[in-house]
Order: sequence, then C-alpha cells, then structure tokens
Amino acid sequence: MSLKFKDQPSSSTASPTEWNAIWKLEIPEKVKVFMWRAAQDLLPTAGNLWKRKALHDPWCPRCGKKGENVFHALIKCKFSQKVWNQTKFKEDLEGMENQDMFTAMKAIAEKRNTRDVALFVSLCWAIWHSRNLFIFERRKEDPRLPVARAEATMEVYRKVKVPQMQAESRQKSNNEQTWKPPPEGYVKVNTDAAIYMEEQKVGLGIIIRDSKGDFVAAAMKTSKFIDNIAYAEAEAIHLGMNVAEAVASGPVIVESDCSEVVNQILGRTGSNLELLWIISDIQKQMQRVKDIKMLFTPRICNGAAHDLAKMALKVNDYVQWVGTCLPHLLYLFS
Ligand SMILES: [Zn+2]
Repeated sequence: MSLKFKDQPSSSTASPTEWNAIWKLEIPEKVKVFMWRAAQDLLPTAGNLWKRKALHDPWCPRCGKKGENVFHALIKCKFSQKVWNQTKFKEDLEGMENQDMFTAMKAIAEKRNTRDVALFVSLCWAIWHSRNLFIFERRKEDPRLPVARAEATMEVYRKVKVPQMQAESRQKSNNEQTWKPPPEGYVKVNTDAAIYMEEQKVGLGIIIRDSKGDFVAAAMKTSKFIDNIAYAEAEAIHLGMNVAEAVASGPVIVESDCSEVVNQILGRTGSNLELLWIISDIQKQMQRVKDIKMLFTPRICNGAAHDLAKMALKVNDYVQWVGTCLPHLLYLFS
C-alpha cells in the first residue's frame, strides 16, 4: 500500500469527545472536514509541503513571512488579519499566539455560543479558499469576500439543511432515507469510492461512528482506477474493514452504496472475475470479526464517506484519523 503518514499532529491531545465538537456544528460536512484537517495540521500549507519535501521553501505565498503553518495561513497572515478585522472575532484573535486550530477553536468556544463557533470555522474555511484562489489562480480577493462567503454558507445551511434535517427526523419512523447510528455497542463503518476518470484515479473514503452517532475514526486514500467502479467500491470496503479491525473490538456494521459488491460479498450473486480476489479477501476479513453485518445503503445515507472519498482525490496519499486511533493505524498500514 502506498500510504504515507504525517508527523504526529500537534493537536493529538484532544479527546474523541472534544473532536465531536466539530462534527456537531451546524455547518456543511465539507466545512467540518476542513476544520478537522486544519486542527490536525493536515492542510497542505507551504510549511507542511516543505516538510514533505514537496516545496523548496516554507515561506508564506501571500505575505512572504517565514514558515506558513496552519495558524499563520488561517489567522495571522496579513490577508487573514484583514478578513478577521471585519468580524466580531477581531479581539478574540488579537492576543492569540501560534497554536493548533483545535485549541484556537476551543478558546473561541469558551467565550462565545455555538453559532459563533460555527461562523468562526466557516470563516477559516473561506480564508483557506481565498488563499488557494490566490495561489492557484492568482486571484486577489477583496477581504470582504471571504466574510460574505462564510456567512452565505451558514445561511444556506440554516435555511436548507436544518429544516431538511428536522423534517427528516420527524419522518424517521417511516422514512429510511437518512444515515442512522448503529445499535448500542456496535460501530458502523460507511465506505465509498469516488472516481476521477481523467487521471485514472479513485479516492476511497471511510468513516466509523458509534451508536451515539459520535465519530470514531476515518481514513482516506487514493488508488489506481482499473476500469471497474465496483472494484473501487470493494477497495473502499476493504479499507473500512481494516480500519474497523484496528479501532473497534465489538460488533461491526459495514455499509456501502454499491449493491453489486455487497451482493457478491454476501454470496447472493457470484463474483465477477475482476473482483474475485478482493471479494474473497473481504470475506476472510469478515470471518475474523465475531459479529459483523454487511449492508447496502442508499447513497443519500452515505454522504460522509462520499465526501471523504472525493477529498481523497485532492489530498493524495493522506490517511486521516482521530487522536487515539493513531498507533493502531500506524501498525495497520506500515
Ligand atoms: Zn502570510
């Protein structure tokens, strides 16, 4: 496997419960995943790329200061400061020293309500977006734009997603179209693959959550696309089960939105030739777990895994995890 691990994230002291603070914010999944990466020092800043020898120097591409780390890019850079100066967070951030983004978010949460924390996170996301526009498209944005973008993102989420979620929870008893946590004692592994045809690449994403819906672990990686979408979906299940074996000791439910692969794994239909090896490998993995269920789930209930799979395509080679899972994962992929 061609997986690389980053250095130990500077914020690994945060407990899984603390990490859930990010996952429970009322903002789009992509913004949550962004913050999670930022907090684990997994953003491709100049400093991080330099450490991985992917860049010659670690200087900030925007202001030229030495060492662009996540905190600099999102908070202290000259451009970021111009953005923050227009917001209510100006004073909160003034005295803040270089630190990991989880600690920064916690400091905001101590002074302000959850909605403000969500806005803070959205602003970080919008600043990062603006930074990337500058680097990759040489577009200089007015600092008011990220503020507007963050506010609009929250507004859309509040107007569209929150009523949708409320309606979904009202209909839960007769409507299956939503992700559901596993029963008490179980963990649920959602897996998905995303294809990038032009580069013949697939992104694999998996996320593991417990019966409270709390986040347990997640991973993503890229793989070669071998002209078979079902194969990529099987690879995602394989990855999900590897991670589940490492982080969970109890019963497991695995969900994939590819019924073709699920049926082959369960022996409901014969495996096609290309998938034969990987399907039998997954079946062996299943035998090692005492209590395991393999289920098909509609795409609409598999959103988090789908987002991770799509992101894997951009991140290449990165595997992500949550604090305490790290040693197991290192063992698993070494
Ligand atoms: Zn800078």
